[in-house]
Amino acid sequence: MAELRSLRCPCGFEVRSRDENEIVRMAQLHAKTIHGQDITVEQARALIQLVA
Ligand SMILES: [Zn+2]
Repeated sequence: MAELRSLRCPCGFEVRSRDENEIVRMAQLHAKTIHGQDITVEQARALIQLVA
């Protein structure tokens, strides 16, 4: 089973999933809708951390 990962935005938004692609999608959607920013898959991936 994949490990649980999380991505946190400085605004307080957090997404947790075992599916890295889902986290990337959610992060891109959040950045676009809340911050009006387009982020790349690489940028989103760089923010993903394993949840201890
Ligand atoms: Zn945010």
